[in-house]
Amino acid sequence: MPGLLPEAASGVAGMPAMPPDAVPALSLDGVTRAYGAVRAVDALTLGFARGRTTVLIGSSGCGKSTVLRLLIGLEWPDAGAVRHDGMVLRRERVLEARRRVGYVIQEGGLFPHLTVLGNLGLLPRHLGWSRQRVRERAIELAGLAHLHADLLVRYPAELSGGQRQRVALMRALMLDPPTLLLDEPLGALDPLVRHDLQDELRAIFRQLGKTVVMVTHDLPEAAFFGDRLVLMREGRVVQDGSLDDFRRAPADDFVRRFLAARRGLPGASE
Ligand code: ADP
Ligand code: MG
Repeated sequence: MPGLLPEAASGVAGMPAMPPDAVPALSLDGVTRAYGAVRAVDALTLGFARGRTTVLIGSSGCGKSTVLRLLIGLEWPDAGAVRHDGMVLRRERVLEARRRVGYVIQEGGLFPHLTVLGNLGLLPRHLGWSRQRVRERAIELAGLAHLHADLLVRYPAELSGGQRQRVALMRALMLDPPTLLLDEPLGALDPLVRHDLQDELRAIFRQLGKTVVMVTHDLPEAAFFGDRLVLMREGRVVQDGSLDDFRRAPADDFVRRFLAARRGLPGASE
């Protein structure tokens, strides 16, 4: 079956059959994932280009988190394939593949019984990093994430919500993965903290040149982060493009309603 084999990404004698950028960093090829009668993801084909930020949006339950979980091998397709760099993701290789993908969930997912440094070092230590190397990398990332290095010895419960999300991001970056998956990373934060972290996160993505797939149900946030928005409904893509594309040529009434549901403050102009 053409296109379904890793060889399809490279031609004879090591010459790429297509430019490397044409192979998405991550992709879903006709992926379906059902829970009982619910198709959380329904025959979905989507590619995520290297170095770009793509934002998945859509109402609660439309399948956004399932897409991320499929991409990182926490869920497996009932049909179709997930690919990393053109290669089909397989269970035997999933741990190795996950090290190349940083994953941040909404609540941060930090272990409460470990300090910040303990959380950051868990996987690197398992991979044989020395304490010294973990500490140096943690301090480096604390600078990037604007977290005071004094906080490295605290427990998650001793941090604010915004600080916890900075730590969750740092943890995802410890191994310097080329790809980041972020599932509503700012959803639990109050508006001011969220606003600041949006600015900082976007600056970090640009600075590091990562491939980023981010989930939000907030349209302004989606437009702030992504040049490419993917609007989902019931496990499928309704529209894929820039916010301008959505506005200029909404794919259907659902897109129109989704755009209209964004309510400005009374008297405020956009
Ligand atoms: P979103 O992140 O867009 O809110 P999800 O991907 O979490 O949506 O869920 C998509 C659909 O799949 C929902 O109907 C949800 O209830 C269902 N679903 C997700 N995970 C499971 C699961 N582990 N067991 C049963 N149903 C699930
Ligand atoms: Mg979700």
